[in-house]
Amino acid sequence: MMNIYGIKRVDLEEYFLSINEKKFKATQVFEWVYQKKVSSFEDMSNIKKELQDKLKEDFNFEMISIKRKQEDGLTKKYLFELKDGNYVEAVLMQHDYGLSICVSSEVGCNMGCAFCESGRLKKVRDLESYEMVEQILLVEEDIKKRISSVVIMGIGEPLDNYDKVMNFIKIINDPKGIQIGARHITLSTCGIVPKIKQLMNEELQINLAISLHAPNTQLRSKLMPINKAYDWKQLIEVVKEYIEVTNRRVTIEYIMLKDVNDNEIQATELAALLRGMNVYVNLIPYNETNHIEFKRADKNTVMKFYDTLKKKGINVTIRKEFGGNIDAACGQLRSKEVWDENILFNWFWKGKRP
Ligand code: SAH
Repeated sequence: MMNIYGIKRVDLEEYFLSINEKKFKATQVFEWVYQKKVSSFEDMSNIKKELQDKLKEDFNFEMISIKRKQEDGLTKKYLFELKDGNYVEAVLMQHDYGLSICVSSEVGCNMGCAFCESGRLKKVRDLESYEMVEQILLVEEDIKKRISSVVIMGIGEPLDNYDKVMNFIKIINDPKGIQIGARHITLSTCGIVPKIKQLMNEELQINLAISLHAPNTQLRSKLMPINKAYDWKQLIEVVKEYIEVTNRRVTIEYIMLKDVNDNEIQATELAALLRGMNVYVNLIPYNETNHIEFKRADKNTVMKFYDTLKKKGINVTIRKEFGGNIDAACGQLRSKEVWDENILFNWFWKGKRP
């Protein structure tokens, strides 16, 4: 039995062919599911009764559920309960160009980045494609609006759940599905080199973001254990290759950590590294978490870092923060509900640590 929200249209076509039906039925089902939003085969009036019965045997419409919502200004955070009792989160952000959602790709995360809260809970399991699709469907239903872009930057490392994440991307990108344009989908990775190689051959027009966070390998190894498996140099090489093969500009994410990676020399080092590459750097104000050894870099320091990169000809932006001091999501999401509501609320939204 498969979840209907976890199947690509081409795979559904295969299915119909395998039961001696016409493959255009897959498009009809997609239209019912994603455009008319029905959640039973009985409602699909252009599909005959016997076929509906067969479909019922092979597919279900099981949904994850919204356990809690928290709203602050332009940001809304959703806690989802999965069928097996696990939890993941997604964050909805309102931009001037539309709505974007940050979705989770795994329950927990094994990457163990030193500064990130999401990695405190080791990976429990991969998310299924349908569980990622449903994060979007449930939020769209909740707000009664269409979401125009998706970032895979919530809990988990998407390239550590490669097949299911690719499947998810193709489902939401389908013009008969949720219709999120590939250029409106961003996948963020800590740098699993072989998977980046694989990704460059998918012929997807999605955006790739690399969590670099350090201008040299020594510092990166201290912050991100993945750097010991695939070091900084290999990562930069594969990013160059990715740009060449896909002809797409890549985003370099750089969290600004006070007195760790935020000084002028490091900015110069980063600029030298990236010179000539078709990338843009996104400086991310650090959201303080329970990792008390890390502090947010000062505004002035961030501005200086920004100016240095800019002067050296690097495209750079500072990540917009949502709702004053709450940039809600990045690195603060957790996949286990361990705090009571008030503590959670203060912690996530007011930046106060329990
Ligand atoms: N595993 C993926 C996606 C999840 S993290 C990745 O590593 O890219 C999404 C982004 O948030 C990454 O760039 C991550 O490094 C960053 N991040 C993690 N903790 C953060 C924090 N406390 N404040 C700001 N950004 C953080």
